[in-house]
Amino acid sequence: MLSPSQFYITREKGTERAHSSDLCNLFESGRYACICCDTELFDSEEKFQSGTGWPSFTQPIKENVVDYTKDTTHGMYRIEATCSTCDAHLGHVFQDGPPPSGLRFCINAIAIKKVKSKFRLVTIGGGCFWCTEAIFKNLKGVSQVESGYSGGRTRNPTYREVTSGLTGHAETIQITYDFSEISFEDIIKIHLTTHNPTTLNQQGADKGSQYRSIIFYRNNEERETAMRVIKEVQTLYDSMVITELKMFEAFYKAELHHQDYYNNHQDQPYCQAVINPKLEKLKTLYKDKLKTNTEEG
Ligand SMILES: [Zn+2]
Repeated sequence: MLSPSQFYITREKGTERAHSSDLCNLFESGRYACICCDTELFDSEEKFQSGTGWPSFTQPIKENVVDYTKDTTHGMYRIEATCSTCDAHLGHVFQDGPPPSGLRFCINAIAIKKVKSKFRLVTIGGGCFWCTEAIFKNLKGVSQVESGYSGGRTRNPTYREVTSGLTGHAETIQITYDFSEISFEDIIKIHLTTHNPTTLNQQGADKGSQYRSIIFYRNNEERETAMRVIKEVQTLYDSMVITELKMFEAFYKAELHHQDYYNNHQDQPYCQAVINPKLEKLKTLYKDKLKTNTEEG
């Protein structure tokens, strides 16, 4: 049962008073779910201090969890955000947010609740993201893999800009994983053994700093784990592992046609010549960690 104020906000499209909730100042890690239907909508990683008095996020956890509608009430032109599962009114979206999206999801605290999430994010690069994305989509416990750019100096880079090598960005993937099923350590180990972490700014025939081997850590524990795994896998290579370790700052999702590239272009020569052997290696090395056919990728 919704309380009267929850009903007013979510079903009658109300707006709570600014600064009426402590949720504005809460930044502990975790997720925020719809108060009506429990669907997870936002991650604390994308929450920011907007100073507006309403909880503010740069983006939802997945594109399709939020629906958008034109709202011209109150003499304004606004974009209304609703829960795509149950249609609950959440708040509005404005175009004055920080990177990576440049958007501000201005959400009523009453419409959401903090939930303990079983999901975490990890961002890594190991050459062309078409390859790394294809690999990690196969793993048990991995719920989402997105291709993008991280570790550079510019905001919202395009593929063309990253390819120039001037932005400092690496082609990366951002993985959402259920940490009760696969650990950060497992992911790093699989990463370091399914690409070549010993070639500087190069992966096979792909050359340039955008193809460098890189791991982004989000806290000290992850940094230490990554350092330990790098040491462990060093014994497997004749040359030195030169994977860069860097504090995570931002992940910029790549253009749509780069997402899920392998699955959409399996017949292409690059996929057959470069990605298929990597997938074979993955299947040999990590048979027990692969999804069964019934699980969604
Ligand atoms: Zn809902």
